[in-house]
Amino acid sequence: MKKRTFIKIIFYSIASLFLPFKLSSIEKKIINPNLSEEQKRIMFGEGTERAGTSPLNFEKRKGSYHCANCNAKLFDSVSKFDSGTGWPSFNEAIPGAFKTKVDYSFGMKRIEYHCAKCGAHHGHVFDDGPGPNGKRYCNNGLCLIFVPE
Ligand SMILES: [Zn+2]
Repeated sequence: MKKRTFIKIIFYSIASLFLPFKLSSIEKKIINPNLSEEQKRIMFGEGTERAGTSPLNFEKRKGSYHCANCNAKLFDSVSKFDSGTGWPSFNEAIPGAFKTKVDYSFGMKRIEYHCAKCGAHHGHVFDDGPGPNGKRYCNNGLCLIFVPE
């Protein structure tokens, strides 16, 4: 056996050991066939929409916010507040709506959250929120559907 082939085999065997763990940590599934390319990029490629682009920044009606992919209820309008960041922001999520994961991209340590039902990426949660629990969920507007009461 050539040395290079041997190295390749070793490399792939080691890589395959870690792959199942990485994939099983948060399972992702596209449920809504009408998601746009931009929505897919954010929800399944851990992307971020441009700040200030979501019409939901200005949404002030009573209602609830659902996952654009699987329709799970994620936030109630009472938890929404104007953070001035350009992204729809909430100080509290529906209990059990999200799963979190540590994200080290861009040289920062941030807590990223995903829909617990479909695994879609929604945004990051920070500890500088105005509510009693001090949370600020910074959510991509494209991942949300607002359902007025
Ligand atoms: Zn979902």
